[in-house]
Amino acid sequence: MTYQNSLEFAQNCDTNDSLKKFRNEFHFPKTNQGDNKIYLCGNSLGLQPKSTLDYIQQELEDWSKFGVDGHTDAKNPWMPYHEFLSEPMAEIVGAKESEVIIMNTLSVNLHLMMVSFYQPTSKRHKIVIEADAFPSDLYAVESQLKFHNFDPKESLILWKPREDQQYDLEDFDQIIQDHADEIVLVLIGNTNYYTGQNFDMQHITNVCHQHEITIGFDLAHGVGNIQPNLHNLGVDFAVWCTYKYLNSGPGSLGGCFVHEKHHTTDLKRFTGWWGHDKSTRFNMRQDFKPIPTAEAWQLSNPPILSMAAIRASLDIYQQAGFDNVIKKSKDLTGFLEYLLVELNDKNLNIITPKNPDERGCQLSIQFLDADKSLFDKLTKAGVVADWREPQVIRVAPAPLYNSFEDVYQFVQILKDIRYAG
Ligand SMILES: *Cc1c(COP(=O)(O)O)cnc(C)c1O
Repeated sequence: MTYQNSLEFAQNCDTNDSLKKFRNEFHFPKTNQGDNKIYLCGNSLGLQPKSTLDYIQQELEDWSKFGVDGHTDAKNPWMPYHEFLSEPMAEIVGAKESEVIIMNTLSVNLHLMMVSFYQPTSKRHKIVIEADAFPSDLYAVESQLKFHNFDPKESLILWKPREDQQYDLEDFDQIIQDHADEIVLVLIGNTNYYTGQNFDMQHITNVCHQHEITIGFDLAHGVGNIQPNLHNLGVDFAVWCTYKYLNSGPGSLGGCFVHEKHHTTDLKRFTGWWGHDKSTRFNMRQDFKPIPTAEAWQLSNPPILSMAAIRASLDIYQQAGFDNVIKKSKDLTGFLEYLLVELNDKNLNIITPKNPDERGCQLSIQFLDADKSLFDKLTKAGVVADWREPQVIRVAPAPLYNSFEDVYQFVQILKDIRYAG
């Protein structure tokens, strides 16, 4: 796409946007004047689809009408409710339906996956993670190491970014080469929450598997704005949340991928009744017989109200078509990048890779001369973005509800604040 630096151009893009109708299907927070805020914070909490209320209301009504019988008699029976989510979710992460399960929350799933996929021995016990991983992921791997009586100082290997804050695969390869016989698990956040960098998952997966190292990805910042193709890549496991780009509400359930090659192996796992064979689950006294899919990792019967919100969101993705979402995402983020570069500001440094394949929709902008007051001014002007110490503002145009005009207005406001007077 060739961009132009004008409001007319932005509005033209919106007119020609095949996904433009979806903007109207979301609730936007308003300014005091009653205008939509410029919401660029889908990387933290996605906006609420207007349809979410109906989806949740349906389950509330069926609960009031049927009580316990809603498990079988509700319009959308609760017993198999999680199954309604698997197919649309699988499409978004590039998996088979049997490889995906919505359950628990992200950090919990990360632990459950490591129970199965972190099986250290005295010789092979090291975990590799990117140095600037999301804190929860870091805490999770550190505590898993300690749980197995290893010292994170010795057993955790950090893949460090280079001076430009980006991670280089050569450094990753070197780590694997140097420690292949000690590493048992690699866990990478794709997309990196801070820099917005997206890694070559095929490369990382292949390198790991060449050395019989298990590879897991945390897709919290990638899901819904990149297509990870988990099955074909051969990734062992993945986890993600649904409240960022998947717009499923604060603290909503997480997703989990377990490659089918692991479904019938004798991997250790923590178990609960919801992972047990459905035909005999209610006999209540059987020895545990795992469902031969990712469902075997379920512990509890799931919260239907939260799942209803996820369903509302996934239905929108289905209507929009995931390929269209990805295409618009690239155009929209490219436009943001173009406008920022046009500012020609030597103190403004985009730390997210330039190559669209190496990022999702988020750009992380470092302001070398600014402190948080810049961000506070943006907030006051009706922009919702996200500040990370030191000096980084993360901006994430979400393809389902953000417009080219949003992006244009954001850069105008930034310009006014930075260069006024
Ligand atoms: C958002 C995010 C989390 C949050 O975890 P919860 O368990 O859902 O609170 C964890 N890891 C990453 C990489 C994230 O982006």
